[in-house]
Amino acid sequence: MAPRIERIVILGGGTAGWMTAAALSHVLAPRRVAITLIESEEIGTVGVGEATLPHIRFFNQRIGLDERELMAATQATMKLGIQFTDWARRGDAYIHPFGDYGQPAAGAEFQHLWARLYQSGKVSRICDYSLPIIMAEQGRFGFPAADEADVMSSFSYAYQFDAGLYARYLRRVCEDRRVTRVEGKVSRVSQDPTSGHVTALHLGEDREVSGDLYIDCSGFRALLIEGAMGSPYEDWSRWLPCDRAIAIPTENTGPLMPFTRASAKTAGWCWRIPLQHRTGNGHVYASAFLDDQAAEDELMAALAGKALRQPNRLRFRAGQRRTQWASNVVAIGLSGGFLEPLESTSIHLIQQGITTLMELFPDGGPDPADIAEFNRVMSLEYDRVRDFLILHYHATERDDSEFWNHVRTMDVPGSLDEKLTLFRERGLVMKYRDGLFLNPSWISVFIGQRVIPRQWDPRAEAVPADQAAATLARLKRHIAETVERLPSHESALAAYCPAKADA
Ligand code: FAD
Repeated sequence: MAPRIERIVILGGGTAGWMTAAALSHVLAPRRVAITLIESEEIGTVGVGEATLPHIRFFNQRIGLDERELMAATQATMKLGIQFTDWARRGDAYIHPFGDYGQPAAGAEFQHLWARLYQSGKVSRICDYSLPIIMAEQGRFGFPAADEADVMSSFSYAYQFDAGLYARYLRRVCEDRRVTRVEGKVSRVSQDPTSGHVTALHLGEDREVSGDLYIDCSGFRALLIEGAMGSPYEDWSRWLPCDRAIAIPTENTGPLMPFTRASAKTAGWCWRIPLQHRTGNGHVYASAFLDDQAAEDELMAALAGKALRQPNRLRFRAGQRRTQWASNVVAIGLSGGFLEPLESTSIHLIQQGITTLMELFPDGGPDPADIAEFNRVMSLEYDRVRDFLILHYHATERDDSEFWNHVRTMDVPGSLDEKLTLFRERGLVMKYRDGLFLNPSWISVFIGQRVIPRQWDPRAEAVPADQAAATLARLKRHIAETVERLPSHESALAAYCPAKADA
């Protein structure tokens, strides 16, 4: 067996680098592995990323972080889902909630029952049967219940936070856990001529850092995975043509929404993410269809509050590396791939990379079977997220710009085509063993994008239509009454995790 891993070097101190350091320092504490993180203030970080998915809560718990302290330190608000406006048609709005719709009936999943009643005009929109959607729409918040019989157990929540503050918080945690931080710019990488393993990272002429395993968290630069290992990038811009973003924070106006908003625009979409101390805004767009000035004008016109900084312009290319672990280099974060932030999946993919690495953590040196499994899992995760994102663009009726005509009529991956057909024709959501988004997520986006099932599971007809409609009406009332008793989102934050105004 190859010698045991005793030194890990993480290149990069963005969200990916510090999340990796925090997780590995916690999990590997009993093995006394030395962890060094190198970052360069001169280069800086990508500096965006505010919306997360519920999985981050479990990740933080697993690595020993305190939720209230973390939320206060990162100016966090609660996130119950994402609201999509103007996507299928101008004037449309729906929320992708972090939770379930209704309950199965006679073995048929809820969407079948709903589709049957909806097609005969006996029920209202599916959103009325989702507790987190009603909570989000009313700006209220309560914590999930443990009792499965309670409708308050039907959802989860995530955070809207300042990812820069999250990285800073993690850095403090890591320094307490004896992670060594090295400031400087890596200018050269040494590799073993026979094995190709990275042997040292050089910071100028006189400093070097060596390890047994290297984690590439160098962001879009991908210094190790691409620069040293030559792992190619698979470009997905033919399906996800957005390749630019402009970000700008503004002062808060009005009540803090417990959800992220994604509003479709001429050639992309604008985000709005309320934090305790400010609102994050941005425009993600396709440069082949919209020039930078027009994109900035569209963003500025959509701002509600006063701008706090100059706009920050970013460029990217949707895609991933099929090989994210090569030799003794593992890519985590933007170095491994990037899918635009429409469903807040990047931080989740970082977590997925870290969790998979921890599960497979080599006892001796990197083993080809571990490497192959890591690459298989990560590739699959990226493929699934890719399909989910494409669905938002492709399942649209919009024909008011060149961009929407392009995405509506483009060929999509076969895996998505199949999923779309099954839902449209039968209301079926193909179940995956792996993959981030579960059935309620797919259902919300299918229906929100006006893909309404034409037929349904026959078991949904077991109960007479009027009786089933009455059951749904009771559920809708119960959800509405439950939400009415909850405190406002602001009161919930003030009681649980108030942040300091000057953070
Ligand atoms: P970076 O933040 O770029 O960090 C790279 C690090 O490597 C830095 O510390 C840098 O100094 C260091 N480095 C690079 N080269 C060298 C060198 N030669 N020597 C020393 N150090 C070096 N994600 C979400 O989950 N939710 C969102 O809402 C969201 N919104 C986004 C919006 C946009 C427009 C974009 C582009 C991304 C968004 N993301 C979002 C993604 C998110 O920003 C990233 O996934 C996350 O910040 C992780 O970045 P990173 O740590 O991989 O890279």
